[in-house]
Amino acid sequence: MNGIMLQTFEWDMPSDGTLWNHIRRHARRWAMLGVTAAWLPPAYKGSAGAMDVGYGVYDLYDLGEFNQKGSVRTKYGTVHEYISAVRHLRLAGIQTLGDVVLNHRLGADETESVRVTPVNPDNRLEAQGSQEDGSVYTRFTFPGRGRRYSPFTWDHTCFTSVDWNGLDPDHHLFLLDGKGFASDVDREHGNFDYLMGADVDVQAPHVREELFRWGSWYLHRTHLDGFRLDAVKHISAAFYRDFLRNLRQKTGREVYAVGEYWSSDLQALLSYLAQVDESMNLFDTPLHFHFYSASHSSGQYDLRDLFRDTLVGARPTQAVTFVDNHDTQPGQSLESWVDGWFKASAYSIILLREQGYPCVFWGDLHGIPEKGIGAVSELPMLMQLRLFHAYGPERDYFDDPNVVGFVREGDSSIPGSGLACLVTDEKGGKKRMEVGRQFAGKTFVCMVGDEKPVKIDADGFGTFSVRGGRCSVYIPRPTFSSFLYHIREWIRRFLTLRLF
Ligand code: CA
Repeated sequence: MNGIMLQTFEWDMPSDGTLWNHIRRHARRWAMLGVTAAWLPPAYKGSAGAMDVGYGVYDLYDLGEFNQKGSVRTKYGTVHEYISAVRHLRLAGIQTLGDVVLNHRLGADETESVRVTPVNPDNRLEAQGSQEDGSVYTRFTFPGRGRRYSPFTWDHTCFTSVDWNGLDPDHHLFLLDGKGFASDVDREHGNFDYLMGADVDVQAPHVREELFRWGSWYLHRTHLDGFRLDAVKHISAAFYRDFLRNLRQKTGREVYAVGEYWSSDLQALLSYLAQVDESMNLFDTPLHFHFYSASHSSGQYDLRDLFRDTLVGARPTQAVTFVDNHDTQPGQSLESWVDGWFKASAYSIILLREQGYPCVFWGDLHGIPEKGIGAVSELPMLMQLRLFHAYGPERDYFDDPNVVGFVREGDSSIPGSGLACLVTDEKGGKKRMEVGRQFAGKTFVCMVGDEKPVKIDADGFGTFSVRGGRCSVYIPRPTFSSFLYHIREWIRRFLTLRLF
């Protein structure tokens, strides 16, 4: 079946500790919509405690269980609510993916005195002066947790660098004594190992060993199916290759993984995939930027270029396609929000085509009320169209800068399957497309858009249309057998019980 990943959070949702319970209650509804995997936000305690979105990680072993950083719970709830949400998702037949943030730590419990070398934040390979005394936040003792689950204490030997030295307010990045940046990371700023906080030295043997141990503990404690890996371009590629291999060997499980390599440069993504032996999928950031450009170019974008230098174009089996996420939403660090009028078009492209594993964003499915952004009203319908209609061979009509389209011929084992889709960033228009002779004499009806039904001619062609700045999706007119099939499929999904 056609899978759909759902990102189950957005950045600005209230810090009221209710998300895990909300997810638990929504699991079946999402399964009915066609969701097959849920990407959950970082579950461990961040330096901002109950306010932390989760990326300012303080203690990987505190999943909302210990009174640390001002509260027991995290932004999303307690450990028991988290594990219960994971269980309910699995019961609904939805895979669960935990967000794994191993690049950095924030909110150290104590400072340490250690020699440091200031380096240029814009070119991390360039020292700014000689070694000096430092007072740095690198000691993590986790007083609220004690030695429960792990006796490991983090100190300056576990980190490469920090951005703050109490004895030197003039510089903004410091390499710790005896440390260097990993060489197999992104090359921006000379070397992009350092991102924020205290940068974890994943190459130090004692740190590697502790993180490998944590990975097994996390899967065992929560029963997650896999991971979304944060900030992979800032972490030694060899580390995640080894981390995943170790975990898969130890658990004997598939452990699905998708990495966030935030770059619009396809070559950087392909090179990373080669370095990690293709042990993970990557989010298709170049495709996101095409959607962004198309939605902000007032009709000047050439839609024939949509897949140029994208991961789904070059390496479709490794690509997780998406429209927006918690970092691209308005006000966030990587803000590049796809404008509302183009959202349905972008989602029809990731959800209805053959290639790529689509990820739907909570902020598009449910809206971002904190920013006055409504849900994408066509999205539930597009997800259902993926579930029931987006099957069979694909035929592309990316032959015009302003109106492009594609068809799916359908699969005879799925009654009623097959579709035709048109997208425009301009005035709209018509396009004659071949859906196949099996539909000769039949009628296609418009499910997204306001177009009239289209009669398919004897050669299997129909002339489909789309209005300015919209998309349109047509399916074969439903029959009694396709109706019965849908009812049966909904019931099956509603009743699914996965035992584990
Ligand atoms: Ca790093």
